[in-house]
Amino acid sequence: MKDWHWVLVFASILITPFLPVLMKAKCPECKKRKLNSLETLRDFAAPGQERIYNTFHRCDACLAYFKQVNSKALVASSHDEYEAAVREAQLRQPVAP
Ligand SMILES: [Zn+2]
Repeated sequence: MKDWHWVLVFASILITPFLPVLMKAKCPECKKRKLNSLETLRDFAAPGQERIYNTFHRCDACLAYFKQVNSKALVASSHDEYEAAVREAQLRQPVAP
């Protein structure tokens, strides 16, 4: 009997579209896997020559905002901070026509 092999093949095909959902990061606030990454934006307020990039995340469950500085650990952020970063990025790097 080789049927089990095909069961595995079909199961992996069926599950593939759901993998991004299953692989979602855990929210540090409510511990649910509902963390969505929003955008990675450069932090223009950062001092010195080093380029700082903030990746913003929002939790779908508790709506908390987080940011990740240069792909390090998540720290708490806010909607206001995210909006400000988006505005700043649009001002400094206008979308080319
Ligand atoms: Zn949450």
